[in-house]
Amino acid sequence: MIRTLRLTGMLFLSLLFVAGLTADEGMYPLSDISRLDLRSKGLKIDVSDIYNPEGVSLVDAICQVGGGTGEFVSPDGLILTNHHIAFSGVTTASTPENDYLRNGFTAATRAEEIPANGYICRITESYRDVSKEVLGVVTSAMTPAERSDALQAKMRSLAVEEAAERENISCEVSEMFPGKSYVLFTYRIIRDVRLVYVPPLAVGNYGGEIDNWIWPRHTGDFSFLRAYVAPDGRTAPYAPENVPFKPKRHIKVAPEGVSENDFVFILGYPGRTYRHKSAEYIALYEQVILPYLSGRYDYMIETMEEASEGDRALQLQFANLTKGLANATKNYKGKLQGLRRLGLVDKRRAEEAALQEFIEKTPELNAKFGRTQAELRSVYSEYEQTALQEIIASLLGRNQFIALLSSVMRAVEKGELSGEKVERMQLFIQEQYGLIHRDTEIDYLATLLHDFMQLPESQRPAAVDALTGGERDRTKVYDRVLETFRKSAIASFDGITIVSGWDKEKLDSSTDPFVRLVRELNTLNASIIERRRTRDGELKRLEAEFLDAKMAWQKKEFIPDANSTLRLTYGYIRGYSPADATSYKPQTTLGGLIEKNTGEEPFNAPQQLVELYNTKNYDKSYEDALLEDVPVAMLYNMDTTGGNSGSPVLNARGELVGVNFDRAFEATVNDYQWSEDYSRSIGVDIRYVLFVAKYLGKADFLLDELGVR
Ligand code: ASP
Repeated sequence: MIRTLRLTGMLFLSLLFVAGLTADEGMYPLSDISRLDLRSKGLKIDVSDIYNPEGVSLVDAICQVGGGTGEFVSPDGLILTNHHIAFSGVTTASTPENDYLRNGFTAATRAEEIPANGYICRITESYRDVSKEVLGVVTSAMTPAERSDALQAKMRSLAVEEAAERENISCEVSEMFPGKSYVLFTYRIIRDVRLVYVPPLAVGNYGGEIDNWIWPRHTGDFSFLRAYVAPDGRTAPYAPENVPFKPKRHIKVAPEGVSENDFVFILGYPGRTYRHKSAEYIALYEQVILPYLSGRYDYMIETMEEASEGDRALQLQFANLTKGLANATKNYKGKLQGLRRLGLVDKRRAEEAALQEFIEKTPELNAKFGRTQAELRSVYSEYEQTALQEIIASLLGRNQFIALLSSVMRAVEKGELSGEKVERMQLFIQEQYGLIHRDTEIDYLATLLHDFMQLPESQRPAAVDALTGGERDRTKVYDRVLETFRKSAIASFDGITIVSGWDKEKLDSSTDPFVRLVRELNTLNASIIERRRTRDGELKRLEAEFLDAKMAWQKKEFIPDANSTLRLTYGYIRGYSPADATSYKPQTTLGGLIEKNTGEEPFNAPQQLVELYNTKNYDKSYEDALLEDVPVAMLYNMDTTGGNSGSPVLNARGELVGVNFDRAFEATVNDYQWSEDYSRSIGVDIRYVLFVAKYLGKADFLLDELGVR
């Protein structure tokens, strides 16, 4: 009782202290960090401890890995990231007999660590503004397409020159504001990444797709990896003799965790946001692109789930793709709900009308920007006409039969297939053909051809009409496609191998309906690329003008949209109200996890976890004093997006209190517009990470390495 009173008093005091402190919209680039007055917001270390171009700082402990972010948490290259970031590595290493995905994976010794195939780590070393050099290649005589090409070419050549002959380094020029500012980043690269500890799926993905993008959350979405380099410190692909990478800096874990309203910040690699785009861009996504993609992804998931029911090997083969599609489709649904609820397109249109009024009032601005918005609108209305055609053509190109046939046809057209290349091509066909799940791929093929048939005739290749017999009905299209498929060269491994033996002339005169489809798709894609070059070049000019006009109007500097470069965001551990009469607290507990547990996937916590909770047979230091339970997940008002997955959540002293892994459903729309009201991101509490590693993973060695035992 006394303890509760004291804690309530402390809570009251801390609430008083933070009153008035709010987070800002902002994924701040490194160049902006020193301009932020983070100490007045709650930071207790010097800003130079976060980023210091002259010395070592927290930034040196952050890496980009597996499409997300990771943080070094030991001097021996140990990386903490999300379970969903390590997912593809674990899935690839799993078989029905050694099902690391389902059961988890623990390497008690370094020798037991296994490669996370395909994983590469990038650490930001330095950056420099190259806007002048990049924009210097543009001349007023250029067509939009030429402008787009010239900018791309300069970005590439600057990166190549900078990286030339430097060991372990790769460089990239990133566009910060389209057509306006460019920064060259230098990255240290690591190519040998291994799995160290991955919790069982029933912890790492607890709640599965039902809970994905949802608060309250009880997912232990974390995993440990390790970065390796050659014994002489150079970057090297996996080799048994490689040694753990020594990061310049690693992050210290704060096992005491955090409480509501505490100041926190994140360093990470947010992927993409679209906050500076115009109303018509958002309208296009709301009305056309997101609904279409979300519908198609749902369908693909359903087909794969049906096809793999009861077949674990096939489930593992599909796991990565289904997870990615499910993640995206729910995100799109969240965005669509958010866009509708906010009425964002209308709001932006009204804002743009006010901007136009402002521009027209000043002759000088009018001369510069008077036509900008009208031209932007016309680019998007043209894009809208063909947006679905572009998407369907691209999805069709990724159908595994079509993709394989195109690779073979490309090689034949180039006359590449002679001598030992024939053998290599046959091996390639064999390998790729073996990966195709025939029924699902035929189904997608028919689905996409059906979608093509819904477009105006002028937008579809004639081969589509030939293949579908001009039918528009889904079942009829499927029957036609299946019938034609059975007679086609792509219906068998032998058939495709025969095509690889043809010469160009034979290929050109082939009447196989799928060979014809690929031929026409190639022509269509070439015209789409052309169209995009022009559009991209126009948008670069117009979006730069649009932003300049907005800056003049609002008299403020903007923060560049996320573009997969290193950013900082800060905020507070904080709940929110997602809907009328609903309010959410910012922390969840093991008790809450058990409450949700039905024993059935995805709410099937390991028995051991249930017992631990029931017997309370664990060290009480893992509990949160206020919650009187083991904390599991936390919510905060920081500004994050995809790519921030795995980012460290750091306290005021720059110590690790959690790992970011998601956003709330209402926050998915923050890719278009951030708001203190609904922008909430979700992390796993470091205390739950340590608790799971210790009691489920029996990974005391990890706690030793983290220095927290
Ligand atoms: N879980 C998210 C993702 O899949 C992270 C986010 O977008 O906030 O990318």
